[in-house]
Amino acid sequence: MRFLVLLGPPGAGKGTQAKMLSEKFAIPHISTGDILREAVRKESPLGKEVKDVIKRGELVSDDLLEKIIEERLSQKDCRDGFLLDGYPRNLNQAKTLERILEKKDILDKLVSLNIEVPDGEIVKRLSQRRSCPQCGMVYNLLTNPPKNDSQCDNCKTNLIQREDDREETIKERLNVYHKTTSPVIDFYKNKGNLINVDGTKNPSEVLRMIEEKLN
Ligand code: AMP
Repeated sequence: MRFLVLLGPPGAGKGTQAKMLSEKFAIPHISTGDILREAVRKESPLGKEVKDVIKRGELVSDDLLEKIIEERLSQKDCRDGFLLDGYPRNLNQAKTLERILEKKDILDKLVSLNIEVPDGEIVKRLSQRRSCPQCGMVYNLLTNPPKNDSQCDNCKTNLIQREDDREETIKERLNVYHKTTSPVIDFYKNKGNLINVDGTKNPSEVLRMIEEKLN
């Protein structure tokens, strides 16, 4: 049973680690960014509401996120564990999550993993990031390129650059991160359930360090 929160700046490798960890522990990977992007793609009412906010690299409202997370965590597959990626993103969301987990009596089981990567490295990484709109696989043209040019290794779909992975937006997202998400790290640190991991290493090394620290 693992109840995990992944923290770290955009581009720290949360998505990549989340995929590996969710397979390893057989727990669902819940990415609020993926949920929101899927809503935008489907042009659902939620998608229409959040489209422009995401495009600007700003944060979607806490109220909307609370509904999304509460609904998702109440699903059956989350009973024995889950891995949250992209939530909580600010102190208010961290407190909301506490309330939700307290009701489920699993608050004391929560462990947060903080993947640390310096800003300069983030800008380099994100501008080279490409992802598969079909299966969600994430590549980096420099460090983890797909085998065949611009196609997904898994499902052969053409890879895309996320609209918010362009340089201007990356800088805005990093600003948002430092202002609003860093306090979440302090929050978990003060509660004594924060594990820091050096995210500058390659993905399998980062995974190894996470596993080591979790045991
Ligand atoms: P991500 O894939 O986690 O980088 O998320 C992409 C975008 O979705 C963010 O820049 C926000 O606009 C929005 N988003 C994702 N998760 C949250 C959250 N917990 N709170 C507010 N906005 C979010």
